[in-house]
Amino acid sequence: MADTKYPTLIPRFLRYVKINTRSDEKSETIPSSDRETKFLHQLVTEQKKIGLSDARYNDKNGYVTATIPGNVDAQVPVIGFLAHVDTADFNAEGVNPQIVENYDGHSVIKLDQAGEYTLDPQDFPALKNYAGQTLITTDGTTLLGSDDKSGVAEIFALAEYLLAHPEIKHGAIRIGFGPDEEIGTGADHFDVADFGADFAYTVDGGPLGELEYETFSAASLHVDIKGKNVHPSTAYHTMINAIQLGIDFQNRLPQDEVPEKTRDRAGFFHLLSFEGTPDHAELDYIIRDFERAGLEERKQKAQVIADKLNAELDTPRVTVTMHDQYYNMIDIMKDHMDVVRLAERAMQNLGITPDETPVRGGTDGSKLSFMGLPTPNLFAGGENMHGRFEFVSEQTMAKAVDVLVEIAKLNAEK
Ligand SMILES: [Zn+2]
Repeated sequence: MADTKYPTLIPRFLRYVKINTRSDEKSETIPSSDRETKFLHQLVTEQKKIGLSDARYNDKNGYVTATIPGNVDAQVPVIGFLAHVDTADFNAEGVNPQIVENYDGHSVIKLDQAGEYTLDPQDFPALKNYAGQTLITTDGTTLLGSDDKSGVAEIFALAEYLLAHPEIKHGAIRIGFGPDEEIGTGADHFDVADFGADFAYTVDGGPLGELEYETFSAASLHVDIKGKNVHPSTAYHTMINAIQLGIDFQNRLPQDEVPEKTRDRAGFFHLLSFEGTPDHAELDYIIRDFERAGLEERKQKAQVIADKLNAELDTPRVTVTMHDQYYNMIDIMKDHMDVVRLAERAMQNLGITPDETPVRGGTDGSKLSFMGLPTPNLFAGGENMHGRFEFVSEQTMAKAVDVLVEIAKLNAEK
C-alpha cells in the first residue's frame, strides 16, 4: 500500500530498518556504536535533503536536531518531537522486512520460509486488531526495528508534510533523533537548552492510541558478599558460605514482589544475576515502584535486610549499593498536564481513543522531564518489540503522523 498522504513514510521506514543500528551496552563511547553514529550522520544529510536548513549532529551527545520553521506570526510554544535510532539487544544484521497486505485478522503469518516462527493470533491476540491492514513483519531471523525507526520515519513524514503544506498553520517545531535509548544512557547527555523546545513528545510508544506520562521510578541494587572459605573438612562452625548468605538475602525479600507476580501499579524487586563461590558472591537487582516513596521504602528494606544479616555475623559481610536510575515522570507532568491534554485532543479529533496506562518501565521522557523538558510518549505503532515477532501496521504509522500534524495544528490555535 502506497500511502498517498505521506508517500515517503513507508519507503523511508523500510530503508531505515535494513540498516543495523544496534546499540552496545558494553561500550563507553557516545553513541555506543559506530553503526549509530554513521546512521545519525546519514539522517543529517537526509534532513537537509528534505529542506530542513539547520540540521546538525551534536557530537557531545549524539543527537541530530533540526527545525521545522513556524509559519504563524503569533508566539506559540515550541514543540519537540524525539525518536531514538538504536535497536534493542537482539540480532539486527540483515533485517529483511516482509509485507503482509490486507491481513485478515485471524490467519497465522509465517515469518521464515520453514514456518518455524509464526505470528499466531493465539500467541499474539493483538493481531485481531489489524484486520484489513498492511503489516510489516520480520523474516524470523532478526528484530524489525520498528522500535524506534517507526518514530524516526513518522517525524520525517511530519516534516515533509508540513513543508509541503504551508496552508497548515503551526509554530516552530524542533525534531531530534538520538542514540542509545535501549541501553538507558541516550538521554543522559541531552542538551535541553540547545534543543530549545518548551515541551516535547517521544514518538516511541507501541500500538494505536498509546499516550504515556506515568512510568516507574527505578533504582539498581548491587549486593556484595564476603564469605569465609576454609577447607570443608575443617569447616564446622567456621566456614561462612557467601552463596548461602546470598540465598538468605534473596529469601528475606518479599517473595511476592517480583515481576512474575505483579502487574498494574505494583512494584517489585527483580533479581537479574547471582554469581558466587563460597568465598565471594554478588547479586544484582533492579527495584521498581510507581511511587517515589515506595521506591525509597524498597531501598530501605534492602538495607535493613543487609544490616540484620550483618548483625548475625562475626563481622559485616553484606554490602548493598543502590543507585537511582530514573523517576516517575508524573512528578513533573502533573504540573504540565496541558501537554498531555494537547495530545489527547489531537487523538480524539482523529477518532483515536487515548490509552494512558502507566508504563511498567521507563522512557527517555522520564529523564528528559526531570531535566526540565516535559516529555510524554506517543504511540509509534510497533507491537512485540525487541525480538523476531515485532511488527507494525502501515495504517497505524500513518495515523501516528496524523497525530503529530494535529498536535502541531492545535498548538498554534491556542
Ligand atoms: Zn524505543
